[in-house]
Amino acid sequence: MFEYAPAPESRSVVDIAPSYGLFINGTFEAPGSTGGVFKTVNPATEEVLAEVSAAGPEDVDRAVAAARSAFGPWSALPGAERAKYLFRIARIIQERSRELAVLESLDNGKPIKESRDVDLPLVAAHFFYYAGWADKLEYAGFGENPRPIGVAAQVIPWNFPLLMLAWKIAPALATGNTVVLKPAETTPLSALFFADICRQADLPPGVVNIITGAGETGRTLVEHPGVDKVAFTGSTEVGRQIARSVAGTGKRLTLELGGKAANIVFDDAPIDQAVEGIVNGIFFNQGHVCCAGSRLLVQESAYDEVMESLKRRMATLRLGDPLDKNTDIGAINSAEQLERIRVLTDAGSQEGPERWSPPCELPAQGFWFAPTIFTGVTQAHRIAREEIFGPVLSVLTFRTPAEAIEKANNTPYGLSAGIWSEKGSLILAVADKLRAGVIWANTFNKFDPTSPFGGYKESGYGREGGRHGLEAYLG
Ligand code: NAP
Ligand code: MG
Repeated sequence: MFEYAPAPESRSVVDIAPSYGLFINGTFEAPGSTGGVFKTVNPATEEVLAEVSAAGPEDVDRAVAAARSAFGPWSALPGAERAKYLFRIARIIQERSRELAVLESLDNGKPIKESRDVDLPLVAAHFFYYAGWADKLEYAGFGENPRPIGVAAQVIPWNFPLLMLAWKIAPALATGNTVVLKPAETTPLSALFFADICRQADLPPGVVNIITGAGETGRTLVEHPGVDKVAFTGSTEVGRQIARSVAGTGKRLTLELGGKAANIVFDDAPIDQAVEGIVNGIFFNQGHVCCAGSRLLVQESAYDEVMESLKRRMATLRLGDPLDKNTDIGAINSAEQLERIRVLTDAGSQEGPERWSPPCELPAQGFWFAPTIFTGVTQAHRIAREEIFGPVLSVLTFRTPAEAIEKANNTPYGLSAGIWSEKGSLILAVADKLRAGVIWANTFNKFDPTSPFGGYKESGYGREGGRHGLEAYLG
């Protein structure tokens, strides 16, 4: 075996300030001017990257007020004029994509090859796509004169910080709404760099406001009476709290929550291709993916072949420095998330399934978890029911399509699913019976701004992406 030489991306392409203030009404305020401050770290090294402001209730007030005063003029602009800003933002993102990719890998821990080749191209594509809708809203199928809702409060998680921001901000702006967005506590930096991009694009002040902080800041924001629409991506638990607090207020709400997707492999599937899809399905972004294929359902007759080649493939995955271009698996985003993964995998080991990881050395500093599979999992096991949100795959088997469908649907979630088979008729018949928002056939984790994304059941409601994604921002 040849060893790979190190191929680190240069860190010097990104200039991180020692501290950041909130971005309200088009200006960066002094760091920590009213609330406190907190630190964001690089999860691969535990190095502090910057100090960031924690927005308190008065800051939230000011941000919502800024968005409110910007709403009138922004929504009155002809769609073609709003589109110019969105196209400009999209182009600046492309121009700064190397810088933003390195920044995202530093703050989040994801491998540079993913932030560079997946996150950033999709972020730009989202802005380009919704820029194209801004002057065509009356043809989108939501009435002749679709109107924006007003001020949108948007709260996003840490797994795809900039991409989740794009999913939220691009459709909101295209439809004429203004926004106050709170990024996750552990990954605030790319949203703050995005604020700088808004300035660079001459976006009118107050149209986009970025306030950083922890869960409490998010709660204050979504509960603010000056907000007309709440868009949340995160855990089902917090989503439930938000649904409760928004109920009866007249605010519009969309929720993108957790998942426990089935990736179903039939015995006639092209096995090598399916194994690539299984690996991509659960080890992409360290498994910090709401639509991850975390439950592998393999037809019994193909089980030995699939498991043998899956283990062989997993032994080639390279875990380590997220900035190294050869790295497949980066760092777990935080100590808390690592602990959550440990608790659930310990439960998995205790409940009986067999646990396996390839030989894999973990760096001494930072937060890491080796790619892991559990075999002999039954539907009653916690690791088959609860979202782990880490590089951990639970393997179950089935004999007939009916059994596969029943097992796949046996979950409180319903975000995504995958089907691997050579037979188009089987794929269509099974897809028709799966209760999941997105179903991939002979591929997995494919994203495109033109395609709606969202869940059933406890995975939430509302759609982001595509023409459907406009509806959440139109009154
Ligand atoms: P989380 O704990 O629910 O946090 C999500 C965001 O909400 C963060 O910004 C968080 O702030 C904030 N928050 C926490 N408590 C809040 C409250 N009471 N009111 C308002 N906001 C609050 O989720 P997470 O652990 O960061 O993210 C992982 C989850 O997101 C997983 O369940 C995953 O499946 C889901 N997810 C879903 C999608 C989708 O499209 N369906 C996409 C990505 C992720 P802090 O950062 O300070 O906690
Ligand atoms: Mg961080």
